Amino acid sequence: MRSRISISGEWLLRDDPLAELAGRARDDLSRIAHPRLPWLEPRIGPDGEPALDVLIVGGGQSGVAIAFGLMRAQVDNILVVDRAARGREGPWLSYARMLTLRSPKDYTGPDLDLPNLGYQAWHEARYGAAAWAALELITREDWAAYLAWVRDTVGVPVRNDTEVVDIGSAGGGLLAVRFADGSVRYARKVVLATGQDGAGMWWMPPFVAALPLRFRAHAADMIDFAALRGRRVAVLGAGASAFDNAAMALEAGAAEVVLFCRRAEVQVVQPYRWLTFAGFLRHVSDLDDVWRWRFMSHVLGMREGFPQATFDRCACHAAFRLCVGAPWTGARVIGEAVEIETPLGPHTADFLICGTGVEMDFSQRPELARIAGNIARWADRYDPPAEERDDRLARYPYLAADFSLVPRYAGVTDWMVDIHMFNIASTMSFGPSGSSINAMTTAVPKLVFGVTRGLFAGDVERHWRSLQAYDVPQAVLR
Ligand SMILES: Cc1cc2nc3c(=O)[nH]c(=O)nc-3n(C[C@H](O)[C@H](O)[C@H](O)COP(=O)(O)OP(=O)(O)OC[C@H]3O[C@@H](n4cnc5c(N)ncnc54)[C@H](O)[C@@H]3O)c2cc1C
Repeated sequence: MRSRISISGEWLLRDDPLAELAGRARDDLSRIAHPRLPWLEPRIGPDGEPALDVLIVGGGQSGVAIAFGLMRAQVDNILVVDRAARGREGPWLSYARMLTLRSPKDYTGPDLDLPNLGYQAWHEARYGAAAWAALELITREDWAAYLAWVRDTVGVPVRNDTEVVDIGSAGGGLLAVRFADGSVRYARKVVLATGQDGAGMWWMPPFVAALPLRFRAHAADMIDFAALRGRRVAVLGAGASAFDNAAMALEAGAAEVVLFCRRAEVQVVQPYRWLTFAGFLRHVSDLDDVWRWRFMSHVLGMREGFPQATFDRCACHAAFRLCVGAPWTGARVIGEAVEIETPLGPHTADFLICGTGVEMDFSQRPELARIAGNIARWADRYDPPAEERDDRLARYPYLAADFSLVPRYAGVTDWMVDIHMFNIASTMSFGPSGSSINAMTTAVPKLVFGVTRGLFAGDVERHWRSLQAYDVPQAVLR
């Protein structure tokens, strides 16, 4: 029988365990809300309306967790926008093609250390404690549903179907953020929680990009796998996403899938497992440039390994073949197929998929277009020893301690210091941070501290006046 219980004054049906859990999480939050005092006053924008204190671009797991962290610091004059439709933020229900998350089930993150907001609590409420105990890895669908539940439970204000196409200065310490529909919002600070390609683009060799669309795709594109039935597919790259796409083609009945690994050996070691300890996650960003570069160029130079299940999902098909030491050096259309050049000789395929990751190129992002040429990169700030050089990684932005962009040349577009970057591009400066589950517990609070530090410092004169005017007696002399 259904019974009604009250949590924090909300009446809930006992047989709606997720609503019950949401009530418990909100109750927890109200108990740990100290210090509760509001401390921000909205600035007035050029349109005469109150400007936002923070606008977050990207409503994936990072954007939601950052908003949640800010709200816990009583920064609630905020807005999260995402160009995706509600529930479709991030890769989980679109181009992520693994069956389950690759990270272990106990990696917490979006909950910001609140057990009743964690994935385990959600899973137990949804499926029961025994199901959690038996669970090996979290499915993509469950992770997406969990993120939506977190967002609703903590009340993060998200506007979907809203793409940011321009960020500029509005003067007076405000940024002007323009959306694709032409409307503008003003904000003191902008956080870019824009995911893997948030500071550049998905990359493929230019000679593949030059092929007609019907012959090629990037692993992050929407791909009609059913159309690959009976066809010959070639995949470039040996990271997890390349294998996931190969598996999708095999499962769709491709006649042959050949995965080309550019290196002489497939990367089977996962450096992200090594670095998942509190000391590294918390403090690699505190190291000097020499050590930050040394650690992160080593990790990112290795590239991410793939889990056993990802490999097995391909290897169980007779139609699968792995070629190592086989970069593509050219490609041309011959009839209704493509001939790919490799050091091992030519290879003919009907469709090409590039699992070749991202390239830093700020000019590819409309929201960074105004400042692309003036964002300091590692190449501008640090010259590594010859054996540690890496031109690809040198193009990553060199971020300040609060994740903000640093102008390459002072006095040109200094307003960029109010734009904080929390996507894959923050990885060279902070280690795993933006676009990562395992670093959320440490990286999101660091970003939130950085943003609140800037908001507080920007209001310091108002706070000083407020203290001087403060005359509330705490005791009455009787
Ligand atoms: C295929 C794939 C699988 C992964 N699997 C795992 C895994 O198993 N375990 C793990 O720990 N990590 C995994 N990751 C890494 C990481 O956890 C994910 O990339 C995760 O989605 C990062 O979250 P995010 O919120 O930082 O970015 P996203 O989830 O990518 O969210 C960014 C959001 O920004 C929005 N956006 C971008 N630009 C704009 C704009 N101009 N205007 C408005 N909105 C914009 C996008 O629509 C998107 O919703 C995976 C990554 C990929 C790509």
